[in-house]
Amino acid sequence: MKTAEPPKQSEMNPADQAPPGTAGTGDSLCPECSGKGTVNGRRCEACGGTGIVIEGVGGA
Ligand SMILES: [Zn+2]
Repeated sequence: MKTAEPPKQSEMNPADQAPPGTAGTGDSLCPECSGKGTVNGRRCEACGGTGIVIEGVGGA
């Protein structure tokens, strides 16, 4: 069961698929800002300005 809005208790960003350190996931360049952390001079909301998002690896 998941709530509509995930709790903001970790370092998760909108584009993250799992919390950092989750088994089976890894860092990936943010597709929104291409790893720069900014979009059009503003902080990228997808990755929170880190340029990195957490994605699942190994396939589903
Ligand atoms: Zn980004």
